[in-house]
Amino acid sequence: MELDQIRQQLSKKGLKITRPRQTILEALAHKSNWTTAKSLFEELSAQEANIDFSTICRNLELLSSTGILCRVDRDSNGIFAYSLREMEEHHHHLICRSCGKISPMDFCPLQQLSSSQTAGYTDLECRFEVYGCCRECQGKKL
Ligand SMILES: [Zn+2]
Ligand SMILES: [Zn+2]
Ligand SMILES: [Zn+2]
Repeated sequence: MELDQIRQQLSKKGLKITRPRQTILEALAHKSNWTTAKSLFEELSAQEANIDFSTICRNLELLSSTGILCRVDRDSNGIFAYSLREMEEHHHHLICRSCGKISPMDFCPLQQLSSSQTAGYTDLECRFEVYGCCRECQGKKL
């Protein structure tokens, strides 16, 4: 996603483009890898961006809850990794346990549920992640 598109999305969702938000999004746009709040904080501190850790955490949460970022519990330890959203459509992620690679999956289990299975519930939200060992990591083991 281009930064201009991100700016448009932010204003569409009624979010102001604050300086920390802009800095965080720019840092993520330059990354090919997913990042945690902690490593983003370290990276931005090294660049003397002057954004404190709680501001980074708060903004990463806000940006992922509004769908601008994707959020994944990469190591199943409750510490989230974030990235700019890879695809427009609702999706889930396939995660390599060994190298931490994350790939988007154009699939949602919620769509497989019948309305009787979720009877009476509205505002459904799904959390679904698949963990495995990627092809490259399988090669290394041999
Ligand atoms: Zn994603
Ligand atoms: Zn791997
Ligand atoms: Zn889903």
